[in-house]
Amino acid sequence: MSISQLARSIAESPTLSLNEQARILREKGEAVIHLGAGEPKNRAPINAILQSAAKLNTGDIKYTPTDGIPSLKKAIIRYTEENYDRVVGTENVMVSGGAKQALYNLLFTLLNPQDEVIVLAPYWVSYPEMIKMVYGRPVIVTPEDGGFYPRMKEIEQAVSSYTRAVIVNSPNNPSGVVYPESFIAEIVAFCEKKGIYLIMDDIYHKLVFDGKVAVPAYRFTARDIESTKVITINGISKLYGMTGFRIGWVVASKALTAVMLNVQAQTTSCTSLLLQAAAEGALTGLQSAVETLRLTLENNRNVMMQELQSFNGVKTTKPDGTYYCLPDFRAYNASSVALSQFLLKKALVVTVPGKEFGMEGHLRLSYATTVKDVKVGVERIKWALDPSSPNEIYIGERKMVRDWL
Ligand code: PMP
Repeated sequence: MSISQLARSIAESPTLSLNEQARILREKGEAVIHLGAGEPKNRAPINAILQSAAKLNTGDIKYTPTDGIPSLKKAIIRYTEENYDRVVGTENVMVSGGAKQALYNLLFTLLNPQDEVIVLAPYWVSYPEMIKMVYGRPVIVTPEDGGFYPRMKEIEQAVSSYTRAVIVNSPNNPSGVVYPESFIAEIVAFCEKKGIYLIMDDIYHKLVFDGKVAVPAYRFTARDIESTKVITINGISKLYGMTGFRIGWVVASKALTAVMLNVQAQTTSCTSLLLQAAAEGALTGLQSAVETLRLTLENNRNVMMQELQSFNGVKTTKPDGTYYCLPDFRAYNASSVALSQFLLKKALVVTVPGKEFGMEGHLRLSYATTVKDVKVGVERIKWALDPSSPNEIYIGERKMVRDWL
């Protein structure tokens, strides 16, 4: 079998593969608790369902324009104005199959082979792989202090003549932290001075807690949309819990958008009309769905923090937003992959190894689940790791035996 070197070098998506392992265990009847999920348990907003169903009922589902249907683009333009205080035109918006495809098309459009993109650790697993998929080079910047907040000095040191872009994701997957406003202001100024694109992955931007705000990068540039280096990626997956609808978008200059559209036209043509109608429904319907989800997540985050506080040796930075936290488990095991596998086998709890996010020794725990699963999940992890806990417990009918890693 002949497989290209590049394809061979691309890692399997660890989160998707964990979902698959969990699904197989569940199918076997195992009482698996999923603290690995990147999606909440809500139903899609009613307006999204109705608009999509209305389109389906017409039976007239054909190709759409490559950049998206005009009514969805109008909704995105309004969203951008309301949330980012930026007036953009229809030629500044491209609708794609999720933020994932939007980002891939953007990277494809920006990079020549060997060009570098700065990725801030901890980072979303797909960034380095996507950069490699367009023959670029990910340059990972890890905070020297082992924390989750990037520092300008470290970023400046990583910039070379090959640097084309920096990706910033705040609120951050996997750590849940929101970067300080002062950092966003500095990185915008830095990128614009250096002529480097600043890709803002804002997919969680409204899911913030404790009255915090993820300040839009646009606020710190006086340049208009045609000349700013700020590019924004967003979508409906996380804010509306509509992960399976696969709609995301990118807002960029007209010149860049036109080229991204050529890339999209030659690969996927467009995203499905049904899903675009659903996205439009979500964006134009009652926005209480987002607030309800945010409140649920904030409550779940609080429960998760309470559970982790009483976990000897585990250090956690309290997340300001997203679905996740990234506790430090190095007191138990330095290898997050071994630890995650151990917890799945011994305690039937899915976690994601921090190694995948550039933070070895940590585990990403998702609280985008029920309060009960958060509690029981962390209790089981405690049972599996604490040497003073009983050697056997029952999970349902199943006797679990703990033996040390
Ligand atoms: N960016 C980040 C930081 C994410 O966590 C995700 C989803 N896990 C995405 C982008 C992709 O979102 P979408 O479902 O819109 O492709």
